[in-house]
Amino acid sequence: MRAKEPFLAADLVELDSALLSRADRVVPMRDVFKGDTGTNVIGLRHDIDDNLGSFETALAFAEWEFEHGYASTYFLLHDSHYWGEEMLAYAPRFEELGHEVGIHVNAIAEALRQRRDPHEILTEALSELRSAGVRVVGAVAHGDNLCHSSHFVNDELFTESPRPAYGKLDRLLEHEGVICPLKPISRRAYGLEYDPNWLSRGEYLSDSSGRWSQPFDVVAERLGEAGQLHVLIHSDWWKQAFPVAVAA
Ligand SMILES: [Zn+2]
Repeated sequence: MRAKEPFLAADLVELDSALLSRADRVVPMRDVFKGDTGTNVIGLRHDIDDNLGSFETALAFAEWEFEHGYASTYFLLHDSHYWGEEMLAYAPRFEELGHEVGIHVNAIAEALRQRRDPHEILTEALSELRSAGVRVVGAVAHGDNLCHSSHFVNDELFTESPRPAYGKLDRLLEHEGVICPLKPISRRAYGLEYDPNWLSRGEYLSDSSGRWSQPFDVVAERLGEAGQLHVLIHSDWWKQAFPVAVAA
């Protein structure tokens, strides 16, 4: 397994043989939320970011998981290149393959860029995603560059995910002269039930920024020993693992 992107076809084989196939089940994060918390069960999610080809690769990943008997959650980013016709046409495909669709939230960053209300942005995005006919109950924050410069996490829209290390729940954020007051409300007001980052877990492995957060082999070897493992994959880094794009 390569330590960093680009991940190749051989890495996909190893992801399967060394990790996923050794679990009792690989399940979407909604199942973890509903109580499938066994130590030998893997909760798997994909955040589909805005790099070229990310959405096509995610669809190929979804087909591959289906063929291997795995299910997971695909979090779709509302301010991405694929949002719009592509998202509307293919979001239902994830569900057809037994996966869950969630929303990847960048509403506070977009509010600062567009000088708008973040709640209005999320409301719009959720209704667009749900208009594709998919059931959306999970949301997870995207890490935008603005999060670092303006010091916030995109899940601070919700009262259930306070970030005291960043500041008070109702503080003012600023970016290039635009002020955005944080006025968190319950995620339940959006018909959202959970955020995978706030579910309890024994171990976490992610390929954020194209690099495994821990050595892959070490995490794979101790599967089940430290409690339930949650894995985050970004299809953005796996384009070359699927040489022939799978048409949905
Ligand atoms: Zn993201």
